[in-house]
Amino acid sequence: MTESGWMGRPRSHWVERLRQDVYDVIVIGGGITGAGIAREASLAGLRVAVLEAADFAAGTSSRSTKLIHGGLRYLAQGHVRLVREAGSERAVLRRLAPHLVEPVPFVLPIYRGMQHGKLTMATAIWLYDRLAGVVKKERRQVLSAAKLLQSHPHLSPHGLQGGVLYHEYVTDDARLTLATLQSASEWGAVVLNDCPVRNLLHADGKVCGVVAHDRVSGQPIVVSGRVVVNAAGPWIEDVLALEQGQDPAPAESFQQVAAGQDVSRPHAHRRATRVTHSRGIHLSFDAKRLPLPHALAVQTQDGRLVFLIPKGDICYVGTTDKRYAGDLLHPDVPEQEIAYLLDIVNSLRPDLLLTRADVIGIWSGVRPLVTAGGSEEGKDTKDVSREDEIWVSPAGLITIAGGKLTAYRKMAERVLNTLRNSLGANGDWTRRDELSARLPLFGAKEIPLANIESWWQLEVGQLIERYALSETEARSLLHRYGDRVEAVLSTGVARPVVPNVPLLEAEIAYMVRWEQANHLDDIISRRTELGRFRGLQLRELIEAVSMRMSTLLGWTEEDRQNEVTACLRECHVTK
Ligand SMILES: Cc1cc2nc3c(=O)[nH]c(=O)nc-3n(C[C@H](O)[C@H](O)[C@H](O)COP(=O)(O)OP(=O)(O)OC[C@H]3O[C@@H](n4cnc5c(N)ncnc54)[C@H](O)[C@@H]3O)c2cc1C
Repeated sequence: MTESGWMGRPRSHWVERLRQDVYDVIVIGGGITGAGIAREASLAGLRVAVLEAADFAAGTSSRSTKLIHGGLRYLAQGHVRLVREAGSERAVLRRLAPHLVEPVPFVLPIYRGMQHGKLTMATAIWLYDRLAGVVKKERRQVLSAAKLLQSHPHLSPHGLQGGVLYHEYVTDDARLTLATLQSASEWGAVVLNDCPVRNLLHADGKVCGVVAHDRVSGQPIVVSGRVVVNAAGPWIEDVLALEQGQDPAPAESFQQVAAGQDVSRPHAHRRATRVTHSRGIHLSFDAKRLPLPHALAVQTQDGRLVFLIPKGDICYVGTTDKRYAGDLLHPDVPEQEIAYLLDIVNSLRPDLLLTRADVIGIWSGVRPLVTAGGSEEGKDTKDVSREDEIWVSPAGLITIAGGKLTAYRKMAERVLNTLRNSLGANGDWTRRDELSARLPLFGAKEIPLANIESWWQLEVGQLIERYALSETEARSLLHRYGDRVEAVLSTGVARPVVPNVPLLEAEIAYMVRWEQANHLDDIISRRTELGRFRGLQLRELIEAVSMRMSTLLGWTEEDRQNEVTACLRECHVTK
């Protein structure tokens, strides 16, 4: 085998499908927004194609704080719809993917002099619980300073006034995106990564398809469709630029491209800016260096919340929020922002004296924040609304921007409502309405939410017994693949690639054949979170995975070296 596959079929099968079929909806961008739209449209019985320039979730959707949350801060900003919607969505997403979306108790300590005092925060969280429809057992509890210090004896006691215990839901953002795309594919969507859209095609002044470039074969792919949706996240302006200021390309360009002629539009003008970019970074630490009994939410001096979230044997901290104008796919990580997060942790836990040398993983992502209409221009990025917005161009290109990982299903619903005007007769809208919030994602159909604790216990026990796995390996398999674990293990050997790292040889084969992993980083940074969390073992892991992928995908030694270099760069490993 020298090509990857998706849902058990080789990549070439999907490329052929893209060339031959005519789609109702072509989605540009395989982040969570594009994935959500693809699932909704597929559930509505529409023929859907998703084209992703790099890898699924390679943009912002693998670089978030991984919270499915209402965002307390948005309440203070008066974004009631966002809070209410996000709150109800976390219950929906828990139902759709209980292995990927889990409730986690958070403690929010309140110190004297903080922007929001104990009463304000307790009231805000009370309101948040009501607005978001939070279930009783997860509602907030107000804690005295003494009570808080009992459970968190190492918190700095100076000026501590108490705290609030409440619940947020934590996910694996990249795998949530992947599971959503896989679900769309189960309902017929054709989904391809490493396939940037380079041109839009027009007929009678309307967008009627795209020209994409298959980076694996080096060949163009012309895909025709009735509606094109621009879900390119931080890159939406680049896609809009393909359309802006151009005479509509004639429908003959289908034939021109098929004949190998270049119909790209290098001089496309940019639109007035609709989004501004803001960078956020995260740091991870060994949980032994940053041991926490609960996740923490900490108010910063500039009125934001920074989260400290334990996850297995690591703990991650984030995020920052700074206006950004650099490389969107590989945003840099300034040392000042690392120092800023370290200072926050150290002021909260002065006993730990964490330094730069304790950081075992770093990731950096870019938020596309909607500034259209000018009302948000000039604001600090932390104050720019996180609401989403949809535009339809005169040629019919639908663009969606802004929003949150948390609200992706509702954002997709809004796009679908826009599509109904043009595709009404084609869709089975009742089926979509019935299934969207109820039908579990790929990998979650056999997971009984009502008995989730027993399910975990039983499955972990069986995996340990049957495959001689460690508990960490068994749990990480269930988190990644849910009810698909047996299918994964039937693909290869249940042996760790590197000792004490939860990644089995069988998983690499599965990710290549079923999940379209074409590059080393697809596995290290997205299909697993190991690149974000593995620190000292990362080089060894990267080497070992690259050797296995070489065999599966027929890489030369030069290919392999290039993959290793690109992966180390993505993981911010410099030494
Ligand atoms: C630091 C940070 C922390 C965050 N934390 C949270 C959080 O905890 N909870 C939450 O709900 N939200 C959070 N968010 C917001 C959330 O991550 C984003 O709203 C969401 O991931 C955006 O997804 P997207 O699909 O719109 O964009 P992306 O994930 O960036 O996807 C866009 C995709 O389009 C592709 N693309 C671009 N151009 C083309 C082209 N020409 N052809 C084909 N494909 C193309 C890109 O490669 C990319 O994969 C956070 C964001 C940041 C930056």
